[in-house]
Amino acid sequence: MGSITLRQVQKHFGEAKVIPSVDLEIKEGEFVVFVGPSGSGKSTLLRLIAGLEDLTGGTITIDGKDVTEAAPAARGLAMVFQSYALYPHMSVRKNIAFPLKMAKMEQSAIDKKVEAAAKVLNLTDYLERRPSQLSGGQRQRVAIGRAIVREPSAFLFDEPLSNLDAALRGTMRLEISDLHNQLKTTMIYVTHDQIEAMTMADKIVVLNRGNIEQVGSPMELYLTPRNLFVAGFIGSPR
Ligand code: ADP
Ligand code: MG
Repeated sequence: MGSITLRQVQKHFGEAKVIPSVDLEIKEGEFVVFVGPSGSGKSTLLRLIAGLEDLTGGTITIDGKDVTEAAPAARGLAMVFQSYALYPHMSVRKNIAFPLKMAKMEQSAIDKKVEAAAKVLNLTDYLERRPSQLSGGQRQRVAIGRAIVREPSAFLFDEPLSNLDAALRGTMRLEISDLHNQLKTTMIYVTHDQIEAMTMADKIVVLNRGNIEQVGSPMELYLTPRNLFVAGFIGSPR
């Protein structure tokens, strides 16, 4: 579960060819980071995978099934939004349970799933609190909890830590990596931060003006950057 294939994926906004043509293979269980400067098309590519934008051309396959035309909810993916997307008037428990409530799952099953997610995220003691009574890191974990309970085949993160201070970003980086080790679910993580890319990724996808400059492990990109853009962006000495 969680293999994703992009074939000649294109996205134009009017005259602007924001994604000229992208081919990409994401394997089951991989932690893939899309990295590149602001405006390089990272969010657009993620939104195309999530089904939040229509493709101009090409196909997207998830677990061997063509989902190019499929609605977001039919893709089995979970997009993790920044922590401010929590409902302030609801407890942590209700925030995490929300997608399951919407899906009309039975209450006892909801409780089980929420408690399991809370355990993974170290939120067990905070389930009855409101988001305003939590730290920034805990709020971010609640947002992730809301994705976990849906048991997606892949998690999609779009710069989830950009609103946090530097110290908390470091902690959350470790927590998300740890979560990946526990769940072993495919994760696609968008960032403009080279350090996040280098420390978290199994595979880095370097984007520049909507094109993939290089795909490889952090070490491969560091030791054998294909061009000056990759070298400059990843920070290797060449
Ligand atoms: P990133 O996430 O890497 O910063 P984006 O994917 O948000 O980049 O944007 C890539 C390019 O596409 C930018 O030039 C942006 O202005 C353009 N773009 C994104 N969304 C739209 C849209 N809805 N309409 C027009 N242009 C857009
Ligand atoms: Mg973006």
